[in-house]
Amino acid sequence: MTNVDVVVAGAGIWGSTLARRFAEKGMRTLVLERRSAVGGNVRCETDPESGIEVHTYGSHIFHTSIPEVWQFVNRFVTFNGYQHKVLARHKGKTYFLPLGLALINGFFGTELKPSEVPGFMADEAHSSRLFDAFFRGYTSKQWGRSPEDIDPSIIKRVPVRASYDVNYFNDCNQGIPLGGYNSLFDRLLDHPLITVKCSQRVCFKGGAFMVGPDALPNIPVYYSGPIDELFGYKFGELPWRTLRFETEKMNIADYQGTSVVNYTDAEVPYTRIHEFKHYHPEQKDVMALEKTIVMREYSAAWKRGDEPYYPVDNAASRLLLEAYQAEAAKIKNLVVGGRLGAYRYFDMDKSIAAALSIEI
Ligand code: UDP
Repeated sequence: MTNVDVVVAGAGIWGSTLARRFAEKGMRTLVLERRSAVGGNVRCETDPESGIEVHTYGSHIFHTSIPEVWQFVNRFVTFNGYQHKVLARHKGKTYFLPLGLALINGFFGTELKPSEVPGFMADEAHSSRLFDAFFRGYTSKQWGRSPEDIDPSIIKRVPVRASYDVNYFNDCNQGIPLGGYNSLFDRLLDHPLITVKCSQRVCFKGGAFMVGPDALPNIPVYYSGPIDELFGYKFGELPWRTLRFETEKMNIADYQGTSVVNYTDAEVPYTRIHEFKHYHPEQKDVMALEKTIVMREYSAAWKRGDEPYYPVDNAASRLLLEAYQAEAAKIKNLVVGGRLGAYRYFDMDKSIAAALSIEI
């Protein structure tokens, strides 16, 4: 591990973006990834039988309004123009999210015009019926607590509109990479100054960065694994939500007619069903096949050994995070980031933006 100028620990979206930047600056960059493959939770697997790109860690749709981020990713991949829509199933009926005219009129059997929406929703009886139907059950399954006990910013991720626009995101750029997500990482990391080593876990022990029994040379380390894990959980574990997925292959062309259906009732044990072939409508041959792959998603409290997905933001976790951040700040040459390192509910574009904004 000599002849290296910088180490990037974690080859997710934050680490891979940084690695590329370092290499383009002429720095010899060693990327150490703890899994057997790069890409973090954006990693996909293509089913060899059907050619369907399966999002191994749940659906990822790239969307951004940050011009620098859009420009950056488009240097490496071309996007297919997919526009994300999410349907919601409640008591046996299917509705269009987000919170807009399609959902409101579909649910209440009304024919409201855009100008009538604010007045209608100001009536507590309406807003709470809608909230109970589409947010209470889903949120309690997703977060293991009632919506009143989670940070309001989480639910505010879902757009509210007084129109029939059913695009799930407000961003002006959106899509799925044409060659699949893995090609984004393959191309980001394909540089003569980047060396990638997988199945390598970095920790900080006895005043040094270690990979197994070996100490890393005294060079800058950009770490995007869980910050508590880096320090051997010495102050305790940061709380996460983890996910479990059940994947099913079916010999039919189409199961649900769309990529994601949320199941908003508390009685249904899973939160949503993903059907991946819908992310690539341009793959006409795959779309036409009498084969599809669906994945049911279940949310649970994280315990050590599980994959962390969603940070649980509350007063206690903020305190614990501060303790770990103070520990990290004592280490010269260490920068921590990404969803796991920063312990933030980042979308992919925010992770890239964070990596692009670091001064190197
Ligand atoms: N949410 C909900 N019902 C839905 C969709 C979302 O209650 O049908 C709430 C839930 O608390 C969720 C949050 O809104 O965690 C953010 O939703 P988003 O779709 O952005 O979640 P993600 O796709 O990142 O898991």
